[in-house]
Amino acid sequence: LANRLIAHWVTGWGARYNPTRQEALALVKMADDLEAVVREIEREEGRPAKTVATAARRHPLARPFKEVAELLRKKNDTPYLILFGTGWGMTRELIEQCNYVLEPIEGNGYNHLSVRTAAAIILDRLLRGEVS
Ligand code: SAM
Repeated sequence: LANRLIAHWVTGWGARYNPTRQEALALVKMADDLEAVVREIEREEGRPAKTVATAARRHPLARPFKEVAELLRKKNDTPYLILFGTGWGMTRELIEQCNYVLEPIEGNGYNHLSVRTAAAIILDRLLRGEVS
């Protein structure tokens, strides 16, 4: 299904309908599992990636935004892979395979955001480095 969706926007009717989306989706690569993604990043970057899991649920090992933002800012060329789930979120096994778990974005009670909303907030907090 994912390959069909990508083909629609990259080479199919969607490419003519929305060339900007074509450009973005042409960057998407499919992989069978997390190990395959980490191997591919190592091939491209010349060093293994550190993985950061995200989830709406609290995790006992979760690290604050400030700490993860500082890791990302360190000039040691380590690539970081930030993982986002779909539907019910990432499985516990997948989360525990990651090097770090990021604290959730807290809401006023219900905090289960759409993945695009969570990704936008998380990238802004981590890359601006202005969280306290
Ligand atoms: N019940 C799922 C959970 O606990 O993660 C929510 C799944 S949500 C539809 C899809 C993805 O968006 C999640 O796997 C996570 O990557 C991200 N996400 C959603 N809400 C979030 C939050 N409050 N904090 C951090 N990430 C969140």
